Amino acid sequence: MKELKIQKLEGTVILKNGRVIDPANKRDEVTNLVIIDGKIESIGKAGEIDPKAQVIDATGLVITPGLFDMHVHFREPGREDEETIETGSRAAAAGGFTGVACMPNTTPVVENQGIVQLVKSRQTAYCGIYPVGAVTKGLECQELAEMGDMFHAGAVAVSDDGKPVTNSNLMRRALDYCRMFDIPVISHCEDVFLSADGAMNEGALATRLGLRGIPNAAESSMAYRDAQLAALTGGRLHIAHVSCAETVDVVRQAKRRGIKITAETCPHYFTLTEEAVKGYSEMTRVNPPLRGKADVQAILEGLKDGTIDCIVTDHAPHSHEEKEVEFDQAPTGMIGLETSLGLCWTNLVETGVLTPSQLVEKMSLNPRNILKIGNGSAAGHGAGLTTSGKLEIGKMADLTVFDPKAKWTVDPEEFFSKSRNTPFKGFNLTGKTVMTVLDGSIIRT
Ligand SMILES: [Zn+2]
Repeated sequence: MKELKIQKLEGTVILKNGRVIDPANKRDEVTNLVIIDGKIESIGKAGEIDPKAQVIDATGLVITPGLFDMHVHFREPGREDEETIETGSRAAAAGGFTGVACMPNTTPVVENQGIVQLVKSRQTAYCGIYPVGAVTKGLECQELAEMGDMFHAGAVAVSDDGKPVTNSNLMRRALDYCRMFDIPVISHCEDVFLSADGAMNEGALATRLGLRGIPNAAESSMAYRDAQLAALTGGRLHIAHVSCAETVDVVRQAKRRGIKITAETCPHYFTLTEEAVKGYSEMTRVNPPLRGKADVQAILEGLKDGTIDCIVTDHAPHSHEEKEVEFDQAPTGMIGLETSLGLCWTNLVETGVLTPSQLVEKMSLNPRNILKIGNGSAAGHGAGLTTSGKLEIGKMADLTVFDPKAKWTVDPEEFFSKSRNTPFKGFNLTGKTVMTVLDGSIIRT
């Protein structure tokens, strides 16, 4: 198996001449970043460089606060054949992420204090692990899970992701209850009656391919319902994996009305359209499905105008055996941690949709702000790897260093993830992680 190299940071380490981007502090400049015993000592042109210091030439590289993915599935406990917290963490580090929030649809479901603690206890030196607890017990939409206990054990949000909370009254109560802890309810928006048995986006192509379609309204109608419930309760709502124009619009309008709503999308929703499904490649089956051109355009606009706050991968590992079946029988989801930064840089920054700083906001600062990670206000989060998505003098360095000019071709065989299910095999991307710095160590491939 390929290994990641971990080097403990000792004494003075200087990242020299890198482009340091820190949106929280409105910094974007080529300068030096000095780390002493793992802590950020200074940012700026050092007058005298300690002759004993280890100097890392970062010329041409970008240095940002560590990237954070607030939506991954690491399959542990229960499906360690597809991914474990350790293998997922290696994939995260290789992709430039220093922290991830893990969705609760494991076996057993993350629905009480004990399982939250179990997930946290599996954290390795590669990546910070932040569990998301379930909204309802067993994700069965009958009874609320033990949210208070989970929060105190370290859950950073609640979600039944993979499934919607179909019962509106339970959703209302969840939003209401979560106000007490100021954590968001992450909504997987899907009207299951509209999406029933659907395998891809509804439209002419689905008809041609002989597959049942899922209309945009299956997502946007529930996003609208949840926005109303957020308004009713004052609770914090976060819309998961936005795929279509109508949902972007729901979020935009709700924000204008002052509703506490945030949203995320994934690289595949702005990189691919439903056209990718031609050829029935099971790798392109995701939920919600890949949409049309106009939807991709709306997602790009939503990213640009700030309607969509975060980019997440929805990293969903599946075993080869289970994924290699007929398209409409295949499980939904693709892995994403090791392709995310390259896809974002290539399709958002190089195209001028986002500035580098805006991209860093969506991949580092905003997700941590939404989950209240690193700002000390979330009492339940306890100690551990909690950074804020900002570069702060005197705090432990939590950084991502990447080469924005590196050109590479996606080869799933090189991935650190245990699974290989990606539709991006063979894609030529620009932008690749060089190293991450986390908890006093440099991690590199
Ligand atoms: Zn998911």
